[in-house]
Amino acid sequence: MLEGKKVLVLGMAKSGLAASRLLNAQNQVIVTDQKEQPLEILKELEDLNVSFKQSKDARELLDASFDLLVKSPGIVPSHPCVQKARELNIPVVNEMELAYHYLPKDVTIIGITGSNGKTTTTTILYDLLRIHNLPAILGGNIGYPLCEVLKDVNKNSILVLEISDHQLYDFKDFKTNYSILTNLYPTHLDFHGNYENYINVKKKIFNHHTSLDKAYLNYQNFDSLKITEDIKSTKYYFNNKDNYYNDEGIFINNELVLKLDEIKIKGKHNYENVLAALLVLKEFAWDLDKIKNYFRNFNGVEHRLEIVDSKRNIAFFNDSKATNPTSTLMALRTLNGKVNLILGGKERSQDFNELNEEIKKVIKIYAIGEVEDRVEDYARKMNIPWEKCGTLERAMQKIKEDVRDGEIVLLSPASASWDQYDKFETRGNEFKKLVEKLFD
Ligand code: ADP
Repeated sequence: MLEGKKVLVLGMAKSGLAASRLLNAQNQVIVTDQKEQPLEILKELEDLNVSFKQSKDARELLDASFDLLVKSPGIVPSHPCVQKARELNIPVVNEMELAYHYLPKDVTIIGITGSNGKTTTTTILYDLLRIHNLPAILGGNIGYPLCEVLKDVNKNSILVLEISDHQLYDFKDFKTNYSILTNLYPTHLDFHGNYENYINVKKKIFNHHTSLDKAYLNYQNFDSLKITEDIKSTKYYFNNKDNYYNDEGIFINNELVLKLDEIKIKGKHNYENVLAALLVLKEFAWDLDKIKNYFRNFNGVEHRLEIVDSKRNIAFFNDSKATNPTSTLMALRTLNGKVNLILGGKERSQDFNELNEEIKKVIKIYAIGEVEDRVEDYARKMNIPWEKCGTLERAMQKIKEDVRDGEIVLLSPASASWDQYDKFETRGNEFKKLVEKLFD
């Protein structure tokens, strides 16, 4: 634990605030961010006796008198202020690594990382542990910074932590007892420079593991196997000959655990997430009735191909988290039926051609957002009826006129939301509200 130190917290957001709250009582804390902060945040910092300095170049705030730099996970390693800290020999940690040093010594830590499926797998595992009455605590990249959840942790807790590559990047001492690597695909290369660096960062989820620690790996994912060849953990596999899914259902140790029609969420990718979560659950508890009941009712994580509602025999799905065409393709692969697709958002040169192999399922495209002209070009090229709508609200008005019984309405925009919304969650919530009042 830190005491009497001078700390610069670089980057505000949720994690910067959580780190400041943790450190302020015993240390001198200065937080900096490029952006202006809302009044209520400034007020809280003032109450905490933490000084906030808005700065475009945080280097001007950092000098040799500082003992530590706590950086927000999303800040790139080449950030000038991080570089300056290194030159001045000031240790750099991120919020999660910092919090790790405040955890009770023998607490159980489950870490979940991977290119895709982190949030879904983390959520399923956490929920299943809770319904088995175990003291699980949810945290990490999923929206609850570890510094914030620390107050609820005791030595019996089971921490279920979603860990992003940005968080892993600065890990030094951080160690889990159980680590899931869902899969590895080329992504976030802007942060890491190249794929090699990226997958080596992901490997840190197994840092300091011994044979007493457990690694859960996707047997069908070549890169996951490659980078874990020399880890010390005891390895368990999903998607292999013992733990797998097929048309019948989900099998653990070759035994049918769940039939596919007993699982509300759909899609091969989701079955992989279910497998990974069940394998870890098995180490802690196993009540098949509880498990079945859970999957019969679990609608998926909010905004990830979330089942919203069925109205007049029309199925509505909120996949606002699909901020690139790969995710939208995954959604289309999963759904069977005639799809009315709401597509578009921020222009980021995304390539809609990635959707080609599943686009036949789409009976009409409703183009929205900054990128709507390119969506229109794409629909025309693929010979799919389209409507340029501008906004989600307008798209839903059109859908109300067009949609027929038995069809699907899918918001899976293949685009970030920042042209019209602050975040994808706001876009998804608006969609759900519009669905609710569609046929009122
Ligand atoms: P993450 O937290 O890693 O971003 P999520 O669980 O939030 O992952 O899922 C985001 C999107 O990634 C989903 O909507 C789906 O398109 C895709 N996805 C989820 N799980 C997997 C998986 N196991 N393999 C491949 N793609 C997946």
